[in-house]
Amino acid sequence: MNRSHTLAGLRDRPDIAVLVIGGGINGISVFRELALQGVDVVLAEKGDYCSGASAALSRMVHGGLRYLENGEFKLVRESLLERDRLLRNAPHYVAPLPTTVPIFDIFSGLANGAVRFLGLTRRPSRRGALVIKTGLAMYDLFTAARRLMPTHRFRGRAETLRKWPAINPAIRNSATYYDAWVSRPERLGLEMLLDATASAANARALNYALVSSTGDSLAITDTLTGEQLPVRAQLVINATGGWIDLTNKAIGAAAQTMMGGTKGSHLIVDNAELFDALGGHMVYYENEDGRICILFPYLGKVLIGSTDIRVDDPDKVRCEEDEQRYILQSLAFVFPSIKVAENQIVFRFAGVRPLPASEDSFTSRIPRDHFCEFVEASGRLPATLCM
Ligand SMILES: Cc1cc2nc3c(=O)[nH]c(=O)nc-3n(C[C@H](O)[C@H](O)[C@H](O)COP(=O)(O)OP(=O)(O)OC[C@H]3O[C@@H](n4cnc5c(N)ncnc54)[C@H](O)[C@@H]3O)c2cc1C
Repeated sequence: MNRSHTLAGLRDRPDIAVLVIGGGINGISVFRELALQGVDVVLAEKGDYCSGASAALSRMVHGGLRYLENGEFKLVRESLLERDRLLRNAPHYVAPLPTTVPIFDIFSGLANGAVRFLGLTRRPSRRGALVIKTGLAMYDLFTAARRLMPTHRFRGRAETLRKWPAINPAIRNSATYYDAWVSRPERLGLEMLLDATASAANARALNYALVSSTGDSLAITDTLTGEQLPVRAQLVINATGGWIDLTNKAIGAAAQTMMGGTKGSHLIVDNAELFDALGGHMVYYENEDGRICILFPYLGKVLIGSTDIRVDDPDKVRCEEDEQRYILQSLAFVFPSIKVAENQIVFRFAGVRPLPASEDSFTSRIPRDHFCEFVEASGRLPATLCM
């Protein structure tokens, strides 16, 4: 990929078949699919590739165990299939992750799960052993035909405390199952982008390239020089995640509000005691408010997250002090004797989950499934597919 060649090509030939806006994992994936099918496609990303949500994730490549209780079975089945594909196709970034759920109750969550299924409540609640057992049995069932990793196992209190001596002694059981993790998600995205441009001469990608409307056409602004290049596309794909509504506005697409993004923040801490306490497992636990949190050995440090807060402007998100406090408090719930000092926090990051607009008062209950919306062409603006 040579930036000046790409810019010169756009100056000479502004007519293209498809313009993909957004160079996160979704924009890159659709760009690659189109490129491999020989479509004349340009991808424009206003910052660095994979610098939005695609760099801010919890690094889990998972089926979404907790989506089962929202009834999102199709999503979980599909995500498990994709997880297993990534384990096979990208073993240099994606690896199995033993994941342990500490359990403090036997029956908790059963009644709540049932009433939620009937639509009588959406409030998150603590999940007990039976609810977790049911979820994990379904997880195993969905992957039975292509078993890549061990099935789940339960441990009693004594065995759990032997394996994780620092865990909250109020524990009753633990459940261990396998998911996967991605070490460097942004590099995975970049590899897919390079694969697309190397395989197809008609696939061109530009970063530091902001797409907006000039009134009667679309333009890509090279934000490094300020040069504005008009482009005429037959189809626009708006893959700007948490920015989808802002992008529709910027390009003049007459669309309803689609997004209700929530911010999630994480900490990376350098604390050897905590790292050792995890015993190589991700600990996937519920905070006292019923929210799922994770603790995870990550490249010699520990990744802890996350929060889930509604936001309007994805350009302004960062991990705030109160989020940092929330994350550290949640840690105290699962490993009460381990203290993380302020100077052991080596990195904080935040991103916006691209979730559909929702009135739900509990952000964790907003559906996680993908959606695509088609906005008809109007005037000089081509049809826009938002995804
Ligand atoms: C806290 C958190 C934890 C998560 N954990 C996980 C997890 O563990 N596992 C998992 O699978 N998923 C997880 N996710 C979800 C996952 O990160 C997202 O689903 C995914 O990254 C979305 O990718 P995207 O390409 O749609 O959006 P993004 O990666 O946000 O990409 C959108 C891009 O559009 C660009 N853009 C915006 N406007 C314009 C414009 N006008 N012109 C050009 N470019 C523009 C932005 O700069 C941005 O790079 C998590 C998300 C968050 C925030």
